[in-house]
Amino acid sequence: MKVKETPETRTIVEVGSARFGNGFVVIAGPCAVESEEQIEEAAAAVAIAGADMLRGGAFKPRTSPYSFQGLGLDGARLLAAAARRQGLPCVTEVVAVADVHPLAELVDMLQIGARNMQNFELLKAVGRAGRPVLLKRGLSATVEEWLSAAEYLLDAGQPNVVLCERGIRTFEPSTRNTLDLAVVPLLRRLTHLPVIVDPSHATGRRDLVLPLADAAAAVGAAGIMVDAHPNPEQARCDGAQSLHLSEVQKLTRRTKFFASHARE
Ligand code: PEP
Ligand code: MN
Repeated sequence: MKVKETPETRTIVEVGSARFGNGFVVIAGPCAVESEEQIEEAAAAVAIAGADMLRGGAFKPRTSPYSFQGLGLDGARLLAAAARRQGLPCVTEVVAVADVHPLAELVDMLQIGARNMQNFELLKAVGRAGRPVLLKRGLSATVEEWLSAAEYLLDAGQPNVVLCERGIRTFEPSTRNTLDLAVVPLLRRLTHLPVIVDPSHATGRRDLVLPLADAAAAVGAAGIMVDAHPNPEQARCDGAQSLHLSEVQKLTRRTKFFASHARE
């Protein structure tokens, strides 16, 4: 099936017990896996909060080469072990073709980050890897470019693709990016693929994550992905936008409530 075919039945992407496109999926966890203790603590809190999936970056695409680059495959192993212990499926970002297979063996879902949305060789390799894919919108990508990127994954043989709106570059510097929530109902008219929202990378600010997560749920998103950390003040990556673990339960309850009242 092509990305833009809009059949009667919408695509439901199953990742372990999480079902994108049926109910509301909450993905939470640290921006980056930093240590075994950190990811185990995060995983336990995410599970207790009633969230559905654990996130954690192992390969981090950072603006500066001097910023923490992630723990690599060791980080992915820690993520997978923590997720398994809690009975949660997990997702991590892949940034290089060479890492696709080792990561596909470890985690339940592969993420293509905003900076790689048009890395076509990576899209082809991930599309062949046999795992569901979370495809983030590029920093300055149009909806058409984003859907074309998703087409690469489908064309390569992977039908289970979830789109993730994570904010786009605009003239407005008050938030890290500008969250384009209009794409959620728009994409429902353009594609059968489920769409989720990442209010953490969209805003860069912890205090804006809950209100925008509520809004994403109300406007019909299939889920959200948020950064959450045991100690955001000490986080090695994106602490300012990371929720405290104690906030994840409220986030999960509220968004699932709003989603149950969302427009079709
Ligand atoms: C992330 O989700 O860890 C990430 C790097 O996000 P983005 O690719 O949207 O910037
Ligand atoms: Mn981040």
